[in-house]
Amino acid sequence: MNPWIARAVVLASTVVMIAIRAPHGRRSRNVRVATSHKTPLETGLLILAWVGFFVPLIWVASPAFSFAEYPLGTGPFIGGVMCLVIGLWLFYRSHADLGTNWSITLEVREQHRLITRGVYRRIRHPMYLALVLYSVGQALVIPNWVAGPANLIVFAILLALRVRAEERMMGEAFGDEYAVYSARTKRLVPGVW
Ligand code: SAH
Repeated sequence: MNPWIARAVVLASTVVMIAIRAPHGRRSRNVRVATSHKTPLETGLLILAWVGFFVPLIWVASPAFSFAEYPLGTGPFIGGVMCLVIGLWLFYRSHADLGTNWSITLEVREQHRLITRGVYRRIRHPMYLALVLYSVGQALVIPNWVAGPANLIVFAILLALRVRAEERMMGEAFGDEYAVYSARTKRLVPGVW
């Protein structure tokens, strides 16, 4: 397949992702932060997330990673587009359900409410699941050994280093309410983990 189709898909999915996040980012900025758990590790993870975000765009716009190119297969391309679509839908839903409780980093806002409904009913981290699906989609669609898996590697590191700290923070903020919620939900995969 022509890699320009993959470039168009990567660009379009990035635009959709920004369009979903932008209004929520603007709205939550107006809600004051009550406690911040932004450690140096968190800052490092955010920088890494930006790197993971830009590497596929550099692949779209320049020949910088041309040494790592391989042919694009129809099967991986179709599978990748499906992952991107499901990932973006879940990203949209989790932003809609979290509303102004969302933060890009580990923070509890004033009048923060624990969300346990919608896509948060069965798993505690639907937005991270959305980002994993999105980055699996990129890994399948981008026929390049550097740009393809870049986001997936970043999110694997982010998940490994952030989820426990986030759950500790939520446990401190919501006490028994979070303990009960945690007891009846899984982290990423409903009924499994
Ligand atoms: N881990 C969640 C949310 C990611 S955004 C997910 O993957 O869907 C990160 C911020 O969301 C955290 O700093 C915390 O303030 C907030 N948060 C996480 N889970 C929440 C919940 N169930 N209800 C309300 N806010 C939550």
